[in-house]
Amino acid sequence: MSAGNLIDVYKNEEMAVLAFRDLRLRKGVTCKKCGKRDHYWLASKQQFQCKHCRFRTTLQSGTVLEGSKLPISYFFIAVYLMLKEGNAFTVQDLQEQTGHKYYEPLYDFARKIRAYLNESDQNGILITFVEISNQLINRQAPGPQIHIEHLIS
Ligand SMILES: [Zn+2]
Repeated sequence: MSAGNLIDVYKNEEMAVLAFRDLRLRKGVTCKKCGKRDHYWLASKQQFQCKHCRFRTTLQSGTVLEGSKLPISYFFIAVYLMLKEGNAFTVQDLQEQTGHKYYEPLYDFARKIRAYLNESDQNGILITFVEISNQLINRQAPGPQIHIEHLIS
């Protein structure tokens, strides 16, 4: 699998949403209204809903993507590129891979994600994505899986 094909895995928005949801659930979602932590996932709205008071929390709220209107898949594309390219990463790379028209929002986005990566379990992020995509692939058509050791190679 070439690097070009590998990054395409991370461009699947449906998988990106589910993987980002699971990343959040790992730390837990706290209701801003009542402070409880039990939530349902509203798939149609892509939001969490508090089991106690029904207050809704967006996927981005309270995360590194707070306020971002960019697709969730950009997060995984950026993480992949940053881990793969290290200091050679440029915002132009991100622009090329996302096909996003404007440079400015990507610049801010990349800056936030770089800071986030410095204080996170970096491999855990992409592993979560691969776990989700394997689950979905198995559901649709059992077959070859994406292996974690191929993540950054
Ligand atoms: Zn609540």
